[in-house]
Amino acid sequence: MVNAKTVKLEAGLYFVATPIGTARDITLRALDILASADVLAAEDTRSMRRLMDIHGIPLGDRPLLSYHDHNGARARPKLMQFLAEGRSVAYASEAGTPLIADPGFDLSKEASSEGYLVTSAPGPTAIVTALTLAGLPTDKFLFVGFLPNTKAARISAIEAVREVPATLVFYESPKRIAAMLANSLTVLGDRPAAVCRELTKKFEEIRRGTLSELIDSVKERPPKGEIVVVIDRAGKATVNESDLEEDLREALGRMSVKDASEMVAGVHGIPRRKVYQLALAMDRTDG
Ligand code: SAM
Repeated sequence: MVNAKTVKLEAGLYFVATPIGTARDITLRALDILASADVLAAEDTRSMRRLMDIHGIPLGDRPLLSYHDHNGARARPKLMQFLAEGRSVAYASEAGTPLIADPGFDLSKEASSEGYLVTSAPGPTAIVTALTLAGLPTDKFLFVGFLPNTKAARISAIEAVREVPATLVFYESPKRIAAMLANSLTVLGDRPAAVCRELTKKFEEIRRGTLSELIDSVKERPPKGEIVVVIDRAGKATVNESDLEEDLREALGRMSVKDASEMVAGVHGIPRRKVYQLALAMDRTDG
């Protein structure tokens, strides 16, 4: 069964969302656009051809250009030229929604600043799929994307979002997941979280629990494939002073004042400065 139909498209740039796993997650409108655009461009032309084959869409004699992070500056003028000629150009990244941790931003900016129609056929994205399944509040969320590779930069990036009153969404790789969860526990405290992997695919799996539970689970059974980590916002501060002091004393016994206050502040969801002052005072008195 061929679902795509050829339609008359206005000249302009069409960002087309593609599946993040299951090929049939593409929308009918996305198929129509892929079947009808004068020019196709893709982050990965092979994936685009495969997707079109699956859905019975012939490329015919239409151009299929490669456009990704590394050739953007060179490839963009060609796509802009097609727009200048009044053609319709469809762009898809390798999977999911273009521009979401994927190429497309510069293209979108340039095409819109030149006054061309820029529109989108929305569809799958791992952010929303993970939020739907994580079991954490979705009223407000912050997409943090991929964290930096080095430990110090990763910790600063997590610190930067610690006080954000929203569910946090991260893209991660199986190689770094253990380190990322450990750093998150240190900086954010033991918050509820979820590791969502292989969404919409055969081995889709959601592990829900506190960060320390998830660290154990990842140690026991390292997850493979593509991963989104979702972490709850800081809880309301309800700790009393003596519990706080007890936790701090225990932490000061095995780490520096800075690390101890960071960890205890994270666990209780209270400002780090306040805990740091207390830790300094305790360190002076006890030490
Ligand atoms: N544009 C895509 C989107 O809209 O979600 C994201 C592209 S980004 C280069 C790829 C990352 O997204 C993966 O490393 C993973 O963190 C996440 N991701 C993509 N597909 C996924 C899936 N099926 N399950 C879990 N995570 C996925």
